[in-house]
Parts: sequence; C-alpha cells; structure tokens
Amino acid sequence: MIDLRSDTVTRPSKSMLAAMSAAETGDDVWGDDPTVIRLQATLAERTGKEAGLFFPSGTQSNLAALMAHCARGDEYIVGQQAHTYKYEGGGAAVLGSIQPQPIENAPDGSLPLEKIVAAIKPVDNHFARTRLFALENTIGGKVLPASYVSEATKLARDRGLATHLDGARVFNAAVASDKAVGELCAPFDSVSICFSKGLGAPVGSVLVGSKALIDVAGRWRKVLGGGMRQSGVLAAACLYALDHHVDGLAQDHDNAAHLAAGLARIDAIKVQSHATNMVFAQIPGPHCAPLEAFLKERGILMQMLYASRFVTHRDVSRADIDTVVRAMQDYFAR
Ligand SMILES: *Cc1c(COP(=O)(O)O)cnc(C)c1O
Repeated sequence: MIDLRSDTVTRPSKSMLAAMSAAETGDDVWGDDPTVIRLQATLAERTGKEAGLFFPSGTQSNLAALMAHCARGDEYIVGQQAHTYKYEGGGAAVLGSIQPQPIENAPDGSLPLEKIVAAIKPVDNHFARTRLFALENTIGGKVLPASYVSEATKLARDRGLATHLDGARVFNAAVASDKAVGELCAPFDSVSICFSKGLGAPVGSVLVGSKALIDVAGRWRKVLGGGMRQSGVLAAACLYALDHHVDGLAQDHDNAAHLAAGLARIDAIKVQSHATNMVFAQIPGPHCAPLEAFLKERGILMQMLYASRFVTHRDVSRADIDTVVRAMQDYFAR
C-alpha cells in the first residue's frame, strides 16, 4: 500500500528496531531509565531549554503542558484550527478545567495580533484568567513566519502570558526554513515535539521547557496515566530518529512538491502545498467517495476526512509519488 493518509503511518525500520532492542532500560517512573534520561537531555539541549519529558503521545504532552501552565478556571488563547483545540477531544476543558479561547486562524496559520489583544481578559471576577498563548508550527503543513512568531510571543509576554508551541512537526518547519530547531523553539516557554510523525518512531513525544515547568508537567503526566516503566525501548527509537531521520524530511518535502506539481496538471481539482510534507486538494464533493475507492483499488490510501490531504513521509518513495499522480490522472481522465 502507498499510504498517504498521514506521516504517522511510518513503520520502524530494521535498524531502528535493532536500536530499540539494544536499549538500556530502567523504571522511568522511578526516574532511572538511562535511555529516557538521555532522550530528554538531548531534546532539551537541541531546543535550548532546561529540561525535557518523554510522553506516550503528543496529545498527552500538549495536555500536560496546558495543565502545567494553567490552573482550573484559567484560559488559553489558541487557533480554531489548532490540534490542541480541535483534534484532542477537548482535553484542556474536559480533563484540565481550562477554558479554551479560540481565535480564527489567518490563511497562513497565524493568529492576528489584534485578535489576540482583544481576547485577553481584564483581571476581574467575571472572567476566566487568561494565562497562556499557544501556537502550532507547522500548522496544516505551513511554516509560521518567524517574524510573526517573534511579534506574537512578545505581545503575549508583555501581557503576562506564558507561551506554548505545539511543535509536533517543528523539525519539518526547521528543515523547510533551513533554521536550527532551537531557533524556532526559542520564543516559547514550552514546546511539544512528536517523534511518531515524519521522524518515523513508532511512539513518543517530548515536552521541553524550564525545569520548574517540566516538574509540574511530570506530575500531570503521572495523573494522566502517562508514567511508563521500561520506556527506554521507545526512547531509543526517538534517539535513532534524531540521529538518522531529520535530514530525510527534506526528501519528504521535495516529494510533496513533486506530487503537488503533478496534481496541479489535473484541471478538475485545485491543489495547495506549503513547502513541507502535506498537499491539499479540493476535490469536487461527488468525486470524493468514488475517488477514494478507485485509489484504494490501486493500493493508494489518502485521507478525505478533514480535507483531501496527501501526506508524504519516509515510507513513500519518489516512484510511489509518480504512481499516485498517474492514478489521479487516470481517474479524472475517465
Ligand atoms: C499528531 C499531532 C499531535 C499529537 O498527536 P498524537 O497522535 O497524540 O501523538 C499534536 N499536534 C499536532 C499538530 C499533530 O499533528
């Protein structure tokens, strides 16, 4: 199967599995798994933060971060399209007693500064206490403009808000913009980074931030059921990905551009891509279900759930992309 539904579908390679089976382990709830400790320290160093914390998922890492920044009755400002708001089951409200204050994202994924200012509540018993400002990079495959990130986080800081980045794909953003990941993380108090996406590990996210914040997040991780035992086997996969899979993201981005160029030649659909590993196609409604079935018959999976989206990753090759373009052309030529 050529699976373009998401970059989460990547499977661990033989050499990644070998690194996992060679991992030194301990009981991480007791804080003595050396491989988890090494992963956390490595990420803290790469992102320029004091400390890191390993999580089973990005959803839990984001939630523990929100809960570390915000107490019951506090609120966070977030995009309508943000994963932490829209795609995490409302966890901040459901489990954290944190009120989200969503703002409509601009087409480039940013949150307009004047809307942020307007959403910050005065200190008054009528209002939830605005505590945190959260961005996502990449968002919908787009890299947030660096100048925007620096202005928006400065605005938040000036108003006394903490800042969080959902950096599930911050390595894609770093590779696409030719910047060090530390530079993209610098404006934020905390950053959550996924290894189970384009980096190709089977499981795992790391939250980075100050020692004090990570201590609080560590308590919430345990409360949320995320305390893991010999999790060094998983951390070893993430360390392997850091050493061997970061540069390969450029190939994924190049494959996405190649796919977008191929699909752009089909008159019936409108194609958008944004320099990283996602291509979006506007497919006329009546074609969605038959096209999905047509592609599936040819061994191609894509997602028509949120938007018609093709995601490139390390388990799809350039030749696979050509196969997908041909199948799409065949469908629309009928
Ligand atoms: C995938 C993803 C997450 C976390 O998802 P999990 O499946 O829980 O690991 C968070 N934010 C964004 C933007 C994501 O794409």
